[in-house]
Amino acid sequence: MVTTPLLELPDEIASLRSIALDLRWTWSHEGDALWGYIDEKLWDRTLNPWTVLQGASRERLKQLAADKAFLAKLKAFEDARTEYLTTPGWFRDAGGHAKVGGIAYFSMEFGLGSSLPIYAGGLGILAGDVLKSASDLDIPVVGIGLLYQEGYFRQLIDSAGMQLETYPYNEPAAMPVEPVILPEDGWLRIGLELPGRIVYLRVWKATVGRVTLYLLDSNDPVNSPLDRGITAKLYGGGPELRLMQEIVLGVGGWRVIEALHPEVEICHVNEGHAAFAIIERARQLALKSNLDFWEALWATRAGNLFTTHTPVAAGFDRFPADLLRKYLPYVEGALHGRGVKIDDVIALGRADPSNHDEAFNMAFLAARGSGITIGVSRLHGEVSRRIFQPLFPRWPSCEVPVGYVTNGVHIPTWDSTGSDRIWNKVYGKGRWRTPTGKTREPVSPDVISDEELWSMRGEGRQRLVRYARQHLSRQLREGGFSLDEIRRADTVLDPNVLTLGFARRFTEYKRPNLLLRDLERFDKLLHNAAFPVQIVVAGKAHPADGVGKEMIQSWINLARNPRYRHHVLFLEDYDISLAQELTQGVDVWINTPRRPWEACGTSGMKVLVNGGINCSTLDGWWDEAYTDEVGWSIGDGSGGAAEDVDARDIQSLYEVLEKKVIPEFYDRDSTGLPRAWLNRIRESMGRLTPQFSGARMMTDYVEQAYYPLAKTVRERLKDRCAEAKAMNQWARLLHSRWNSLHIGQPVINQNDGAPHVVVPVYLGEVEPGSVRVEMFADQTAEHAPEVIMLHQEHPIVGSTNGYIFAGAISSPRPLEDFTVRVVPYHPGAHLPAELPLISWQK
Ligand SMILES: *Cc1c(COP(=O)(O)O)cnc(C)c1O
Repeated sequence: MVTTPLLELPDEIASLRSIALDLRWTWSHEGDALWGYIDEKLWDRTLNPWTVLQGASRERLKQLAADKAFLAKLKAFEDARTEYLTTPGWFRDAGGHAKVGGIAYFSMEFGLGSSLPIYAGGLGILAGDVLKSASDLDIPVVGIGLLYQEGYFRQLIDSAGMQLETYPYNEPAAMPVEPVILPEDGWLRIGLELPGRIVYLRVWKATVGRVTLYLLDSNDPVNSPLDRGITAKLYGGGPELRLMQEIVLGVGGWRVIEALHPEVEICHVNEGHAAFAIIERARQLALKSNLDFWEALWATRAGNLFTTHTPVAAGFDRFPADLLRKYLPYVEGALHGRGVKIDDVIALGRADPSNHDEAFNMAFLAARGSGITIGVSRLHGEVSRRIFQPLFPRWPSCEVPVGYVTNGVHIPTWDSTGSDRIWNKVYGKGRWRTPTGKTREPVSPDVISDEELWSMRGEGRQRLVRYARQHLSRQLREGGFSLDEIRRADTVLDPNVLTLGFARRFTEYKRPNLLLRDLERFDKLLHNAAFPVQIVVAGKAHPADGVGKEMIQSWINLARNPRYRHHVLFLEDYDISLAQELTQGVDVWINTPRRPWEACGTSGMKVLVNGGINCSTLDGWWDEAYTDEVGWSIGDGSGGAAEDVDARDIQSLYEVLEKKVIPEFYDRDSTGLPRAWLNRIRESMGRLTPQFSGARMMTDYVEQAYYPLAKTVRERLKDRCAEAKAMNQWARLLHSRWNSLHIGQPVINQNDGAPHVVVPVYLGEVEPGSVRVEMFADQTAEHAPEVIMLHQEHPIVGSTNGYIFAGAISSPRPLEDFTVRVVPYHPGAHLPAELPLISWQK
């Protein structure tokens, strides 16, 4: 059954197999010499050790096994690898293992390297960088994803400048993954109940240093032809196919965790796609521990974490309720008589649980099923508090429980050889394996001279120019262009000219054609003989995004126009390798999302590491990173109608380029160095790189989410889930009795000290210990929100369950700002996330 061709290696070099299957080679280049030695041509062409190894003939392998020089190299590499894998990292040193057993990280896509094409863009790259950073920091993360036979499309541009999509078949045996083989049972397969049948999922694994990523696929001959295609394409097909994929990911994925990783305590759902893991986790616990589904959800929810990536409510993944009714009955099936009804499960994905017409929203399920919900930048945290507001009716939006951990990039994946040399001098080896995130120092001239810094930049730019010419020449050859035109590719771009880069998904809100909306000005910029500028552009448009495709076409038209083709390049098929070359070589990275539509954005962080400078609207991560010293902002972040904002931003973009970027780049001293520019590089590299590193991101996740969640989930699972059962009961009672409570008129006593408030509260059928009575003042321009807890003074004579609550208001804010309210209370509950009831003074 195993489709990986038997790779027979002589004993002396048997370790090459596991080395080639460890994707650590996507960021650590210690082993490159080995692969080049085995087959230089194949290595140069693919940069994929697994392909090199599979391509080696028996003869060549025999030679290598007897080659003393090679064996010595191999031994040295094995030692270095063993050291990496066994030296305790930050997490272990910090005593993390006592606090969290393991974390399962679910994602629809993972971008680890071009050789494993199971990603589309930013979400996947982030997930890949999470695994790599977890490996470096020794955090016990296990990844869960899907192994797509076709993945996301590859981009070609036709002669009319239109994007064509192709789906080359991903031969699993050619990808750096292997089947998960159990000693007794052979290849691990997961059975999944879909309507009227069982679909079998094959389990594969990819190794990412210390971390394992499990990948599921349905392309097993035992399944029906239709089911074999469930995991064919990433983001292809209609809603039903997508729903099946998400069930495979969430439900199938959680079953893999149950089968192989009992130590896992945290289920981290990366974007709503994977939220069915939450249902399956609760269901499994209910079965195992003889609980009702809701008790089990109370127990497990405290161990679930949801990272939301969507900046607009329209971006949430939704399914018609009828589809859920078709696919979810298995939840009820095995749990018959344990409290759960399909409609109640479907209600978890609705803003208004009682509205049967409302579609099922995966992000709502994820938020309702998680102890903590987190956005991906400071600004996105704010935006998310607004878009999750419907789940917290009558709660002030500032209290909607969505925090943030700003994304970061795995620096060793994105740095160039040249910048790596510089970082080595600044922080020493092993620097990105510790939380350097607190460091905010510019790169000092005492450590790195201007000359050194500028030659690193020069190398990067030259390399990009070389790469871009080769890429373009291949593009032209494949596109059937004439020999003359193909030859011209060797002369495009100039390695001494200010190089701008723009690469991202082509979609309306990112405004990839903002520069083109004032062509006259753009033309002047490109053709200024004294201060020339060139630009390299790349990006795919989703196959269904016509506007995105048109924007690609307008760049292509320009890049094919003889007047521009030397300074404007569009490189096809944006992927990780192309992103690496671009972000290592450009001087300035342009980013023009319409605020606040970019949840975070990470490509600009890859540029920082390499000494490039960001020029971006104040959106996503740049909103918290930008200061005058580190880069440039397009516009001032103020809002308005889309046309007005666009008009202002075009104006601002050109002004920044003409008045700031270009003059500073070409302002050279007598030795030919741009001193002010170099200072800017020092500020940007030094101050921002550690802050936007994967190490900082992962330490934040550990400290702000994994630790506290593991603590609460342990409490709830203790003593056969006694606390979870109690909480379920508490929540049920509060729910059914909430409307029986009301708040009387508060009285303010203004003696000498702080004003004192006294308020009668009639709790109806609600127990006094189940709630808190508070004074609340909302956020204003001048003031942060304020909550003052009131104390229960005494029962109100003659009333039933009525009490006087009282407290001092020691606040600079006027008394009119405060309102009395009652909210649920239970020690150990994540509130209001887990029970968003609230009652206000009338
Ligand atoms: C980094 C990266 C992205 C995400 O970057 P954004 O700034 O969010 O556009 C997308 N695609 C590729 C190939 C990348 O490397």
